[in-house]
Amino acid sequence: MADGFAGTTLRINLSNGEIKKLPTDEKLMREWYGGRGIVAKICYDEVPRDADPLGPLNVLVMTSGILSGAFTPGGSKVEFGSVSPLTNGQGDSNMGGHLGPALKFAGFDLVIFSGISPKPVYICIDDDKVEIRDASKYWGMGSLDCEHLLKQDLGEDFEIATIGPSGERGILFSCISHDFGRQAGRTGQGAVMGSKKIKAIAVRGNKAIKVHNLEALYKHTYDIIQRTKEHPNMEPWQKYGTSFFIRWSNDNAVMPTRNFQTTWYEDVEKVDGESLVTKCLVTHKACFGCWMNCGKYSKAVIEGKKTVFAEGPEYETGALCGPNLGMHDINHVVYINYLLDNYGMDSMSGGGVMAFAMECFEKGLITEKDLEGHTMKWGSIDDVEHFLDMVVNRRGIGDWFAGGTRKAAEKIGKGSEKFAMQVKGQEMSGYDGRWAPGMLLSYMTADIGAHHNRSWTITVDMAEGRETTEGRAKIVIYLQHIRPLFDTWCSCRLFWGELDITPEEYAEAVNLITGWDDSIDQALKVSEKIWNLNRCHYLERNKANGRTFDYPPARSWEDKIPNGPGKGKGVSLEQVETMLDDYYRERGWDKNGNPSRALLEDLGMGFAAENLGKAGFLGKPLEGGIPKVRGEKYKPKAF
Ligand code: SF4
Repeated sequence: MADGFAGTTLRINLSNGEIKKLPTDEKLMREWYGGRGIVAKICYDEVPRDADPLGPLNVLVMTSGILSGAFTPGGSKVEFGSVSPLTNGQGDSNMGGHLGPALKFAGFDLVIFSGISPKPVYICIDDDKVEIRDASKYWGMGSLDCEHLLKQDLGEDFEIATIGPSGERGILFSCISHDFGRQAGRTGQGAVMGSKKIKAIAVRGNKAIKVHNLEALYKHTYDIIQRTKEHPNMEPWQKYGTSFFIRWSNDNAVMPTRNFQTTWYEDVEKVDGESLVTKCLVTHKACFGCWMNCGKYSKAVIEGKKTVFAEGPEYETGALCGPNLGMHDINHVVYINYLLDNYGMDSMSGGGVMAFAMECFEKGLITEKDLEGHTMKWGSIDDVEHFLDMVVNRRGIGDWFAGGTRKAAEKIGKGSEKFAMQVKGQEMSGYDGRWAPGMLLSYMTADIGAHHNRSWTITVDMAEGRETTEGRAKIVIYLQHIRPLFDTWCSCRLFWGELDITPEEYAEAVNLITGWDDSIDQALKVSEKIWNLNRCHYLERNKANGRTFDYPPARSWEDKIPNGPGKGKGVSLEQVETMLDDYYRERGWDKNGNPSRALLEDLGMGFAAENLGKAGFLGKPLEGGIPKVRGEKYKPKAF
């Protein structure tokens, strides 16, 4: 096994309690790089296309990649993946904290859970000792509360991932939590963990990781630390974390406000980073191997409610549970952050779902009768609290919203799908794409639905022209290839975005750890493979041409921005169609958005061409053949 890997894979069958320790498949790891790449391949290979994401045939994969635990910048992430119950395609999400390194230190690269346990359990990994333990004592507890209790019961040196009541009850936007505020939030990984009746995973590891060239790795990291100490972004990041962007997004008219009705919030100073730091901040927090400490541990004090603590809100939660819900007090945003975290709900999708409910209430599509005598008004913390209680307990129409925005819109009807702000079932992140067309295209084409992290183009949109859709496809593809690398290596990408550590420097660290000699271009090829594999997987499961799934809700092109600095701006349906045409052409997909045999074979994925062909969705051969350069050489000016 190459250096840098722990060498062992755990397979845990919850149905029969079997625990197997197997040598990690080196060939597979070499080809897919671990992390998000290996998760995608395992799900593609092992989950039958008609398997229920919440049934026994889905797998839940947990993995720590090459950089996790290796004392490189932000080498802290743990990746979770399974077929998503929210999107019905490949789902994955990662989180920082300390769990990824702990898993590696315990001696495991991968844990693959299958089956369904007959009773609630938690998994205890204590170096070589692996046990499935009874969790009846913890079942029903909030995610944060359960982590507290397990640490009391097992010891502070265990790193623990939990789900809350939301995951136990199969709410489709449930997350997995760790370190009292880090979440693998997107794609419903918490619902999959709950479906397997796993309440928690506790890991303690004390082994070393073998590094190929330790001296050179030490120097490489030391030089980066010295260089970045003086970076101008360091101070604002350490002070505000990502909440810094609340003001920035508002000033630049991309802030989702009242369910993306507009892009500018008139009361932003009441919920921005400055108000968070001055009114609620308790202490700063960092993940393993991080000197940027973007985590803000905060306290919400609200008259008549218990005082609560939460990590955040970081930008996404702050935007989607602040301006997007019309909140006027940062304490209320922190309180919502706490509720969602303890229920074990993704705070991004949670914000989107609540905003959608508020707009439905405003338009009279749901009423006080539906809400057990309550209202659902913009800015009301009491309404939010009651609504979430309905959702987590699946009471009345709470059950509709437990399926996320798309499923709720199907139940409500009456044109509500126009403002159900999701793509492929995944609620949009905290940026409105009407005056940032690259961002809109990112949402449309992301493999896991409308998630910003797949390709965050906002700064490029601003640098290269927000009015034009021209050239957006290349930018999006470039970012869709570069960003997965951080998820495959299991490293935080914020050092790249904020402190200018280059992808080449990360790739160099990977080589120093493993003994490989991969260029950044080789790494980008792995990214392209992952992207195409997930597309094939999605088409095979959802049984239609890709284009069918790549449209945003109609608000994105029917409604121009009504006020603020972006007043009157927006894209047309024609521009949306053109961006899709450009994107498919640049990717080497046909007009229906399907990958062709020539492309898949060029990527060394003949097996995927066979499967996609059998499913009937192999792309038509392209006139002039597939493009030789597919995004990987294109570097936007803003980077
Ligand atoms: Fe964690 Fe933030 Fe540091 Fe990234 S920058 S490793 S998310 S604390």
